[in-house]
Amino acid sequence: MKQKSIVLVTVDCLRADHVGFMGYERPTTPFLDSLAGESLVVPSAIVAGAPTYYSFPAILASRYPLALGRDVLGLGPDEPTLASTLKQAGYATASFGAANPYISARFGYEHGFDTFRDFLEDEPAPLPEEKANAASGGGWSSRLNRGLQKIRPAFGPLGNVYDELYFEYCQRVTPVADSLDALRRFPAADVIVDHACTWLASVGDAPFFLWLHLMDPHSPYYPKEAALKLMGQTPVTPYRARYLNSFWNRSDLGPRRFARHRDEVVALYDAGVRWVDVQMARLVEALDASSRWDNCIFAFTADHGEEFLDHGGRYHPPSRLMEELIHVPLLLRVPGGAKKDVAKSPFSMVHLAPTLLDAAQLPAPTGFEGRSHWEQLRQAASFDGVAISESVAGCTNPFRPEHRMGPRVLSVRESRFKLVLQFDAVAENLMVETLYDLDADPGERAPLPPAAQKPVRRRLLEIAREHLRRSREQRDSRTRLQARLRELRLEWKKPADQASPVAS
Ligand SMILES: [Zn+2]
Repeated sequence: MKQKSIVLVTVDCLRADHVGFMGYERPTTPFLDSLAGESLVVPSAIVAGAPTYYSFPAILASRYPLALGRDVLGLGPDEPTLASTLKQAGYATASFGAANPYISARFGYEHGFDTFRDFLEDEPAPLPEEKANAASGGGWSSRLNRGLQKIRPAFGPLGNVYDELYFEYCQRVTPVADSLDALRRFPAADVIVDHACTWLASVGDAPFFLWLHLMDPHSPYYPKEAALKLMGQTPVTPYRARYLNSFWNRSDLGPRRFARHRDEVVALYDAGVRWVDVQMARLVEALDASSRWDNCIFAFTADHGEEFLDHGGRYHPPSRLMEELIHVPLLLRVPGGAKKDVAKSPFSMVHLAPTLLDAAQLPAPTGFEGRSHWEQLRQAASFDGVAISESVAGCTNPFRPEHRMGPRVLSVRESRFKLVLQFDAVAENLMVETLYDLDADPGERAPLPPAAQKPVRRRLLEIAREHLRRSREQRDSRTRLQARLRELRLEWKKPADQASPVAS
């Protein structure tokens, strides 16, 4: 029998509840919804860390993100991954990623790929406002924020009105690009799929592994105009889109002020998701046209979600592990498969790589932390579901090593209960624990009082302790050392201060 090929698509910032096949009411994913009719849809896929840099070690290497220590980011240079395992098995391998610096070769993600394009060499041309910034010697938005903070009290209750008007004035006097395409910071999904199709045409009949990482729903939210149209949205001018993004990015406002524009911002984000869906249809069509779709495993998922004021926050800061950040869509389509009702137990993304290998009838490397759930998924059988997610609070720029040493955050998620633990940065002592009953409180609005559900609390705490103990005792010191050396070599070339990431 011919070896099955594997396509893995990861979408940055795609929360589980914004895709149709997970119940979203807006038409963000009509193509994927139709594919869900012949796929396994995992209802509770939970990332092993958030954001990007804490999520991908589990997706590609089936390893918890902080297992090598908080100071190590990315994959070890020779760490076995899904890609390296498939390459060894004779697969042609390629990755096309839409310019996310955290999953670049710098952090070991090229390992195992014959072709690896991260599009980071294609820096976008400076935007008009950036040219203006460069000319005036600083970021207008931060200066504006500082200015507004200072003057607002002087205006009493009229302060909000004044700063709204002043913000709008600043927007109006800054030149804006003439299209959403010119404002976009990442290659759109059509560009990535174009490259993927060209590569697919070059590999002939060989089994292949193709990993695509798409950034369309990532902020700043500048979707394709065609996607807005498909969503039935009224057109958004470049001025309005930039206004919304600049407003959403302000650091001086509280959630109530942001709420005013939330729906418009979400509409831009949703259109980004729709463009991904359109391009997934194109990709599948290309595979079908070359008679390869019938022998192809297709996995569609995300690295983490996105906050839209659910708990007052925006974007995806690595401080909290709320459901809007850790719950992602996961659709698995396997040739000859049929739709099955997958158990609602949490499925940790640490299990994804071994599950995909199993579906392709290949053994997983012994070092993988996760275990294949292929049989349970395929037979719609129940499985023990506990998903652990890790992060470091406040680590918004991991290019700065000191950012990485912030306080560890860890969540233990079962079907019904979820315990979130916060540690202190230095001694790593447990500082705060918060227990949620997700059946009664799916929005995580009200943590259970300390005296409630004591046996559950104790049980989940013990799982967290065991996880940390294993993480320390089984640390792969050789991989850790190699990753540290790689980083030092890169830092000698380019000091961390100079790195200014636009994505996380
Ligand atoms: Zn991400």
